[in-house]
Amino acid sequence: MRIGIDLGGTKIEGIALAADGRELQRRRIPAPRGNYDDSLRAIVELVTTLEADTGERGTLGVGIPGAVSPATGLIKNANSTWLNGRPLAEDLSRAFARPVRLANDANCFALSEATDGAGAGAAIVFGVIIGTGTGGGVVVNGRVIAGANAIGGEWGHNPMPAAADDERPGPACYCGRSGCIETFLSGPALARDYAASGGEAISALEIAARAATGDPRAEAALSRYESRFARAIASIINVLDPDVIVLGGGLSNIERLYANVPRLWSPFVFSDHLATRLVRAMHGDSSGVRGAAWLWEP
Ligand SMILES: [Zn+2]
Repeated sequence: MRIGIDLGGTKIEGIALAADGRELQRRRIPAPRGNYDDSLRAIVELVTTLEADTGERGTLGVGIPGAVSPATGLIKNANSTWLNGRPLAEDLSRAFARPVRLANDANCFALSEATDGAGAGAAIVFGVIIGTGTGGGVVVNGRVIAGANAIGGEWGHNPMPAAADDERPGPACYCGRSGCIETFLSGPALARDYAASGGEAISALEIAARAATGDPRAEAALSRYESRFARAIASIINVLDPDVIVLGGGLSNIERLYANVPRLWSPFVFSDHLATRLVRAMHGDSSGVRGAAWLWEP
């Protein structure tokens, strides 16, 4: 049995998968906020409950909103900031008296989709989560490529490629730079762009719904979004050359992206023919927790 834990900002989800990937049990609890020891205790309780439910002992994988620093073994880059600088992997391994694997939550998403989701069977999968931010993860031959700095797949803070004059320097980003891909492609970024063009303050999905009814301002904002998405992804294709790009997160529900973005990315890719597919995630919100379980690969 494999147990996966998805440590989110507001909830902690746990899943127990049978050897064949069948879901045996799933539980969700509110995530303690602001306190490391409470977070640790909550994970221990959740795993204990899953093992009591199933009567089995599992391997343990945990998806985190950050990464384990290869330099120190401590958590870094977590927006649940009370985890940063803490030895979560070590503390969990000690609590359970067995090895525990930790990975960035976007990497877990990519692994889930590559293992038995929309990227199943593909050699190189780039997983993208677009919602309040833009996460990414790389899976090659069924293994997460975490990278030398544990930032593999983190494309959101690259500059927007082939930026037009009115895209420079671009919106300020929380990372300290301006014009990062995330400042154009996150849900709030699309909403801000629409509002800046004279539209109302509505969500990214509402903008997509208005564009579908022929609203010209929403259509223009979504077209700009698609152009930016295509340019941003083209630079990934040029380096990684993935077979499949799997899209998850709230904005993965905008259906027209799957047809329009691949039509727009060709001029920016160094190839005469493009076999890369852009597809919607199969497991939706469950991919984080499923991927955490798959950190102990088949
Ligand atoms: Zn940034």
